[in-house]
Amino acid sequence: MAINYKELGLANSKELFAKAVAGGYAIPAYNFNNLEQLQSILMACVETKSPVILQVSSGARKYANATLLRNMAKGAVEFVKELGCEIPIVLHLDHGDSFELCKECIDAGFSSVMIDGSHHSYEENVALTKKVVEYAHAHGVSVEGELGVLAGVEDDVVAEHSTYTRPEEVEDFVKRTGVDSLAISIGTSHGAHKFTPAQCTVDADGKLVPPMLRFDILEEIEKRIPGFPIVLHGASSVPQEHVDTINKYGGSVKSAVGIPEEWLRKAAKSAVCKINIDSDGRLAMTAAIRKVMAENPGEFDPRKYLGPARDVLKELYKHKNINVLGSAGKA
Ligand SMILES: [Zn+2]
Repeated sequence: MAINYKELGLANSKELFAKAVAGGYAIPAYNFNNLEQLQSILMACVETKSPVILQVSSGARKYANATLLRNMAKGAVEFVKELGCEIPIVLHLDHGDSFELCKECIDAGFSSVMIDGSHHSYEENVALTKKVVEYAHAHGVSVEGELGVLAGVEDDVVAEHSTYTRPEEVEDFVKRTGVDSLAISIGTSHGAHKFTPAQCTVDADGKLVPPMLRFDILEEIEKRIPGFPIVLHGASSVPQEHVDTINKYGGSVKSAVGIPEEWLRKAAKSAVCKINIDSDGRLAMTAAIRKVMAENPGEFDPRKYLGPARDVLKELYKHKNINVLGSAGKA
């Protein structure tokens, strides 16, 4: 039996995006697949009064089970009420790769889906996206499409090279598919290993600076579809402190450089109204767990290392909402 997201108390993203574009901020889209991640996302967003998009990748569905995840999102709605702040919560499928998967999620109570047809030809992408939009809109569910390909690895999504979004295609794509938002490729990439130090320049303070995002492409897109909600994937900043902590306590994460937070702040002030952050959370959680385990080798109660990891994650998300996305106080 199909369940509509409204029965779960969830929101779709349409109104949130309209407000975000007008207000010059971006809604956080945080991936989750377990309890502690969900708790920290919700606590951070309640404390900063930020709307939130809970993202589930197809890998997360396999890992945690779709029914459990949906009921966790339902629980999230009750939990934020208990915390005293009814922030809007969207349950979103990240990188749906087929109509069937999107339909399954819509029927299971998701309020938003992404159909990623970016690996197909342009015409096939249009046809697939349109098909998903027709089904989704009949159920009040919002749809994110994608034009252009991001490099990097994210669960099942792998691409060796990036292909920038072609601004001349966006107007036609949006008009023909009816999508509610569009993920674009302007130089961000999936995963923690976005840029090697060799790809970066060194600034006056000795900090590594990655190749500049193609803000010119973003501006050109905004000109062609003014006010249309744009989405940035692969927007983790790879905080050096967490990478250092991991490596200090026995880990081996190669030095990598992410997207500088100032650049994301700049993007959030434009038509970019959803920014996906996954790798930063993975690094923060791993760093916290490694630290506790190294310092307390006798500890074997999972709450004693997952609890501190949850605290570190919560601080990371609060920082993103307040200082990077600008979504704090917008719920
Ligand atoms: Zn992505």
